[in-house]
Amino acid sequence: MNTKSPKTCCVEMVGPDVQMDQHGSSYDPANRLPAKCQHCSFPYLDFVPQPYLLTKGVVSPSEMSPAQMGNFLVRKRARQIFEIVVPQACAFYPTIEKKTKKPTDWSLAVPKAILAMPGRKADKQPSCPKCHEPKSGYAFEDHARYIAQLRQFDSQRVDVFKSQDWDSSGTAEDDFVSVNRERKKSGMPPQSWKEHIQWAIPGLEPPTHPQRWTRRHLSRNLFFSIRLEQLLKRAKVKGQLVRSYAFKEVQPSSEDEKWIEEKLRLLADKGLTGAVKPTQKAGGIQSWFQQFLKRNATTGQKSVRFAAVEQKQSITLPQAYKDFISAVGSKSFADVCGMEGSTTTVLLPHRLDFKNYRRGMMPYLEGEQAEVDGVMFAEIDSGDCFVFDVSAKASDCSIYWYRHEENDLEPFAANFAECIKRFVQKN
Ligand SMILES: [Zn+2]
Repeated sequence: MNTKSPKTCCVEMVGPDVQMDQHGSSYDPANRLPAKCQHCSFPYLDFVPQPYLLTKGVVSPSEMSPAQMGNFLVRKRARQIFEIVVPQACAFYPTIEKKTKKPTDWSLAVPKAILAMPGRKADKQPSCPKCHEPKSGYAFEDHARYIAQLRQFDSQRVDVFKSQDWDSSGTAEDDFVSVNRERKKSGMPPQSWKEHIQWAIPGLEPPTHPQRWTRRHLSRNLFFSIRLEQLLKRAKVKGQLVRSYAFKEVQPSSEDEKWIEEKLRLLADKGLTGAVKPTQKAGGIQSWFQQFLKRNATTGQKSVRFAAVEQKQSITLPQAYKDFISAVGSKSFADVCGMEGSTTTVLLPHRLDFKNYRRGMMPYLEGEQAEVDGVMFAEIDSGDCFVFDVSAKASDCSIYWYRHEENDLEPFAANFAECIKRFVQKN
């Protein structure tokens, strides 16, 4: 008789590099962790600063989003689902918006389980003589082998956990030296420590000895059991936290399926399954939008013949977009989503892209993202863009943010008016 309990297969959960708890346009945390090691300054990885600051994306229509250090952010329904199906798996912390200091409806979910994962080593690099942590993190030799080991990993019924190992993009101190080396080569004056560091880690004092290693973009990986990942998907939790493509072939077992069915029934009884409607009050956003159009109306707009474009493409453009173009024309917005120095431009109808973001045109998209039928209407100078989802064939469309580097579509706003409000408020 086989008495072995079934294996719990896990998948790595990933999301865009831009996270809600990052400082400005750097990838460094908005919530600095205190140093555990007074020598190299290695931080307390499990410390949760309070109040926990969010810098961007608070109004995003997502319900789940990645956060620093292998943690993640959840809205109310997603949090309730975790509390019901995997009680005690995470600790939840309130968050506030950095700019306004107001509480947000997002909770920081911190997985309680931290597991040693196979495949990563810290050899071939210096480590701290006091705390013995490596200088820049734990690395793997061979990516394919590393992933293969993770796919075989059995978490033994732990549904949410972070990896014990960590990684970083190197130290701020080394970055400083290499930036000034490059500047010297091109005949530029050296940067001071303060100039170098203030946009990323404001207030960080210069190092006093060569083994102060401020690891940048310190990260831990987040894993869900395949059964939990599938459950969230089937409960239609809208999220920016998705299964890593490297784990796309992992399938739930028949035991997993039983668990999923049972938990889905539990959630259905409590009214927690199925897509949620946007919570934004339609009246509020519409009057804000009308005010915006009035304040930004430009005279001498050439009248735009939307009907010709719509007929040619067999698409109805959102009325709010047409109102915007008729009153304001093409318009650029600075620093959208706190991306300092960036410019986002809303395009005129003849410059819309009706081709490259349509359903089926973007490889690697899965689930809800793959269903989006996108028409690109705004460009960021970084190469990213925003699309209308015309799949609903309604007069109003949800807006998605296409990130070209991650090849990923992020829900951005419930409609065009709300999208413009986010552009204006840089949040
Ligand atoms: Zn140390």
